[in-house]
Amino acid sequence: MIKIVNLSKTYPNGITALKNINLEVKKGEILGIIGKSGAGKTTLLRILRGVEPFDSGKVKIDDVEVSHDSNVHERTKLKRITAIHLQRTFGLWSETAIENVIRKLYAAKFGDETTVNMDEVYDEFKDEALELLDAVGLKHKAEHFAPVLSGGEKQRLIIARQLAKKPKVLLLDEPATMACPKTKQEVLDAIKRVNEKLGITVVLVSHLPEVHYYLADRVVWLENGKIKDEGDPETIIKK
Ligand code: ADP
Ligand code: ADP
Repeated sequence: MIKIVNLSKTYPNGITALKNINLEVKKGEILGIIGKSGAGKTTLLRILRGVEPFDSGKVKIDDVEVSHDSNVHERTKLKRITAIHLQRTFGLWSETAIENVIRKLYAAKFGDETTVNMDEVYDEFKDEALELLDAVGLKHKAEHFAPVLSGGEKQRLIIARQLAKKPKVLLLDEPATMACPKTKQEVLDAIKRVNEKLGITVVLVSHLPEVHYYLADRVVWLENGKIKDEGDPETIIKK
């Protein structure tokens, strides 16, 4: 699903964030990326998302290939087939959870989530929206008003909304890192469920070993922009 070849990235200030990264991720796999602050994890996610140019190498996700000399327009193709989630909860509308998802489903088809006539489109997208809410374990909260959901529920609702455009890859940057244990577990369970139910490929950045033990099929250890080690979570992290 993802193939990264000889990827390097130096920021305009001269800092080299990634050096000659080679990596493949299989369809349906959860790849964990671990490493200290400054290792290059976020830069790698942003490149996969298509929002960051790079200096050499190429990145292929599904059938979209982007190289160091691709322009913004070409890179944006990656944006269409990926979704990214960071640990923040703004961007939800003051309406029910299911309406929030319907809005995104509508936008994925017709392009604008701000002009939805909810009464008109509700029935058309209801079942699909419930499926996505179910995938993140929120089906029972479908009719609840989004602004009053708990922190973990909001994060899961945001994940459900991002799945509305049927991305090939879900990118997660430090999911639930700052959350309390209960919220964190809810979010991690939702990620696991989404991966199992929808078969979506996941790339997950976290500096927390327990997140990788719980979710990752395979872990890549980044250090100073290079892959230091790669393998199953237990072996890699305990080294
Ligand atoms: P991580 O996510 O592992 O903490 P980052 O990818 O954020 O690492 O950063 C890798 C390196 O690139 C760090 O040294 C960081 O300071 C630098 N860096 C990140 N973003 C920028 C930027 N926009 N401009 C310049 N340097 C940056
Ligand atoms: P869409 O795919 O609907 O256009 P975006 O990609 O703009 O939506 O954002 C979807 C969600 O992903 C946002 O709610 C936000 O949390 C997160 N997100 C996406 N890109 C970024 C980014 N570059 N920086 C921070 N958050 C982002």
